[in-house]
Amino acid sequence: MRDRSTAFDTGINKRDVFNGRRACVFCGARRGLTHAHIVPKVEDETWEELKGLGWVPQQAKDVVQEPRNGLQLCRNCHGHFDDLSVFVRYVPEVSKFVFMNFSNITDQPYVNLHQKAIGLQPLERCSPMACLFLIHECRVRGRHPFRQNPFLPQNIEWAHWIPWTGMAILSTVSHHFKAHLLPPRRRRRRRIVMGWKAGAMYKELRVGRGA
Ligand SMILES: [Zn+2]
Repeated sequence: MRDRSTAFDTGINKRDVFNGRRACVFCGARRGLTHAHIVPKVEDETWEELKGLGWVPQQAKDVVQEPRNGLQLCRNCHGHFDDLSVFVRYVPEVSKFVFMNFSNITDQPYVNLHQKAIGLQPLERCSPMACLFLIHECRVRGRHPFRQNPFLPQNIEWAHWIPWTGMAILSTVSHHFKAHLLPPRRRRRRRIVMGWKAGAMYKELRVGRGA
């Protein structure tokens, strides 16, 4: 098992670093860090199904090893993510990953984190696949079937810890924080893995807001 998780852990450890220090991508905590799977690591069948549908590229590693199926989270955030209390929604219009406190957790930092952009960027190397967050969101919304699909604000702000701590510097031009971007010569737009079916599903979810 140790060998199987190497690529996963290494990829996340390299990616979720803010000015040289690892941190929880939701709340910015630097202690009690863990690695979470977006699609649970026991779900080989789901993973293969996603590959078959073209949502996950054929060359991707398996569900356990693929770092694009993972997040660095503190223990608290990991617990809320796994028990389907919160989800992350990728908003392609602004290229941000947005935290949604869907179960209305009343503790901080979750109240303040609601609808804020977290420490993930689509241009990053090994950025999480947006379609996997969609699967997770469906599960969260299934667990809370009577909660309405939340509206997203026009202006999606960064989570408080990103500009405050100085761990990452915001670029007013690109609207991204600089700490994670690839060096300029290698910087090129990385295509978010979101097949047409995932795109259609996003559309459906948005249309369904008012329903
Ligand atoms: Zn956290």
